[in-house]
Amino acid sequence: MSVQVKLPAALRPFAGKQESVTVEGRTAGEALDALFAAHEGLKKQLLSPDGKLRSFVNVYVNDEDLRALKGMATPIKDGDVVLIVPAIAGGSAAELTKEELQRYHRHLIMPEVGPEGQRKLKNASVLCVGAGGLGSPLALYLAAAGVGRLGIVDFDVVDHSNLQRQVLHGTEWVGKPKLASAKERLRSLNPNVEVVAHETRLTSQNALGIVKDYDVVADGTDNFPTRYLVNDACVLLGKPNAYGSIFRFEGQVSVFGAKDGPCYRCLYPDPPPPGLVPSCAEGGVLGVLPGAIGTLQAIETIKLILGIGRPLVGRLMLFDALAMEWRCLKLRKDPACPVCGTSPTVTSLIDYEAFCGLKDQAPALPEISVEQLKEKLARRENFLLLDVREPHEYEIARIEGSRLIPLGALPERFAELDRALPVVVHCKSGGRSGKAVKLLREKGFDAVNVAGGINAWSERVDPSVPTY
Ligand SMILES: [Zn+2]
Repeated sequence: MSVQVKLPAALRPFAGKQESVTVEGRTAGEALDALFAAHEGLKKQLLSPDGKLRSFVNVYVNDEDLRALKGMATPIKDGDVVLIVPAIAGGSAAELTKEELQRYHRHLIMPEVGPEGQRKLKNASVLCVGAGGLGSPLALYLAAAGVGRLGIVDFDVVDHSNLQRQVLHGTEWVGKPKLASAKERLRSLNPNVEVVAHETRLTSQNALGIVKDYDVVADGTDNFPTRYLVNDACVLLGKPNAYGSIFRFEGQVSVFGAKDGPCYRCLYPDPPPPGLVPSCAEGGVLGVLPGAIGTLQAIETIKLILGIGRPLVGRLMLFDALAMEWRCLKLRKDPACPVCGTSPTVTSLIDYEAFCGLKDQAPALPEISVEQLKEKLARRENFLLLDVREPHEYEIARIEGSRLIPLGALPERFAELDRALPVVVHCKSGGRSGKAVKLLREKGFDAVNVAGGINAWSERVDPSVPTY
């Protein structure tokens, strides 16, 4: 069957400036294959590296959206007209405006980017998972570079303790949603960028629906369940994932989920047991570190969009800020990988809280509120108020009458505690004290957790106690 494929102005330079191309095929898919075989340049514009039609491109057959018909299998007959309609960001195709030509001048003069690369950036969409330490440099640099559509998933509010590293947010935004703060900052940086706010926790229920609309995902999460969720969603949808993670003075960067490349599960098939690897909230992080790691993720993201250089596919970069050393490890795709291997066992999103062993921990731990603790103290009840934070945290803020035994030292110091005395345990926000309560109860102590920790105490009971 001979059909006419009509091209929009933006795509004509990739097909010898023709307005339409006549090709042969029995289905829409075959017609497009023939078009791409004849015009390699169009293929690069319209297909992602894994050979799928990019999500900003819609195809119509005789004015009907292909998605409403039978997709690529839609049959076509002689004389049909196939129309390719890329998304257009406010006006004429992906042509750069005069303002954009000025703004991106330093890109435009580099042959590796140039006007064509800059248009690719404008046509591209990136999903940043998290608007925190890694999400800050990611979103800022991707917006500055001119990525056309930037999605951000976050549901948190800006906290004072975020400002040491989350440079996307200003002090005046403390207590307000991170996404509102991000939107305003990014609009001021580059009003050409469409910022899409996904104000939600990424879950197994919503992840595929959110991720599918983006070309590249940049994972800036801070917990294992979300990390595995992002990985699996990217593998299932064939989206590359510019991955970064940070802890104290160390960071990791890689690109997972690329065609023929390994995924996060090839590297770590199983998460560490809960409690073994502390979070940044517990273990701390050098404020500048996410700046370095998130910026590298932004570079990898831009390389993926432009199709230049050698992406970190199959390589894991390790950074040690104290030693100031970089190391690059080879990663191999694991044929037995449960999600990207030859016979995957994970073919849809699972329950990641349960997978990371976090589910059975939650229930059954008795806890009291900070208000109940205040009453107990006021009634001079006989109990031990145990603080399981670190000595330097105790120096910053403490609840009067508490005794400090850091969580790590607790198992060696049970003998110091009076078994007859009830123990009320607190930490900064309730995580470490929950672990301590579990340990103490296993040893036969009558222990309860203070929900929300000393931060809740300072917010709701005694504001003179600093939060940190
Ligand atoms: Zn894998």
